[in-house]
Amino acid sequence: MRRVLVTGITGQDGGYLVEQLLAEGCEVHGFVHDKDATVPDFAAAYPSVVLHPGDLADSAGLAALVQEVEPDELYNFAGISSVAFSWEHPVLTAELSGVAVAVLLQAALELQERTGRPVRCVQASSAEMFGEAEVVPQDERTAIRPVSPYGAAKAYAHHMAGVYRGRGLHVASCILFNHESPRRPTTFVTRKITAAAARIGVEGSGVIRLGNLDAKRDWGWAPDYVAAMVLAARHTRPDDFVVASGTAHTVAQFAEAALRRAGVGDTWHEHVEVDPAFLRPQDAPLMVGDASKAHRELGWAPTVSFDELVGRMVDADLALVRAEA
Ligand code: GDP
Repeated sequence: MRRVLVTGITGQDGGYLVEQLLAEGCEVHGFVHDKDATVPDFAAAYPSVVLHPGDLADSAGLAALVQEVEPDELYNFAGISSVAFSWEHPVLTAELSGVAVAVLLQAALELQERTGRPVRCVQASSAEMFGEAEVVPQDERTAIRPVSPYGAAKAYAHHMAGVYRGRGLHVASCILFNHESPRRPTTFVTRKITAAAARIGVEGSGVIRLGNLDAKRDWGWAPDYVAAMVLAARHTRPDDFVVASGTAHTVAQFAEAALRRAGVGDTWHEHVEVDPAFLRPQDAPLMVGDASKAHRELGWAPTVSFDELVGRMVDADLALVRAEA
């Protein structure tokens, strides 16, 4: 039976990955932060997953866990997941999204050398590493030039994936563009919009206060992106893969689509306001990915369009608002 260790297992991608791995019959282990308040709910939802509490900042503990679990596959989803948060905590971001990856990869290499069994690793890298890219769309060869503490930490981790690949470890680095679902927290703009739009749709009033309405992002359906990471783990050759939908929309277009789906109609713009508190010190104006390598080599393709993604998220939030009422 394939044994898999997942860090960041209680997050959006962790949950979807667990569902895929359990359906395949894998033995799943999860590293969880000992202060993560969502762990009891996660444990109740997935009772067969073996959870290991700890702290990503505890390098010795993290390395010991890899040796103890002896995974065949290791997915690293842990770390700071919000660009906005990284501006407030740049050093912590470097430790958890950067240095911890070096610890995991070194531990995986030592495990592989000790047991003689390959350890297939996947690093969840981020398009945020490209910063204000001069090339559109971005692919695996686009210059890495981050403009946020989050992007810089992810860039270090991405480079370390390449370094350990050179040492004989099967490390895939999946450069994920924004990927969303009803499980996104409202700290992300998509879910912030769909949660608010659903409330406005049901209550008939309210405004969504947003930052940069003109930022253009390539938003995809999170379970599709998780499937790409599993394909990358099991591919014959470890490599870098951009995972993206290939289409970009502005934050304003997302808000319009969500409000229309919630039933607001042509007056949607009356429910959107710009609040400078949500503007960022630096924000890439346009991010859009070219996933042709993943299409070609992994046989991967996204299954959910932008409209369908917005529709699914708004419908899930409408159900929540109606259940409350
Ligand atoms: P990120 O790409 O990982 O930072 O994902 P986010 O969903 O947090 O942000 C996506 C884009 O939405 C960025 O360009 C933000 O500047 C923009 N944005 C505009 N208004 C907001 C807002 O109110 N909250 C957040 N989180 N992002 C916003």
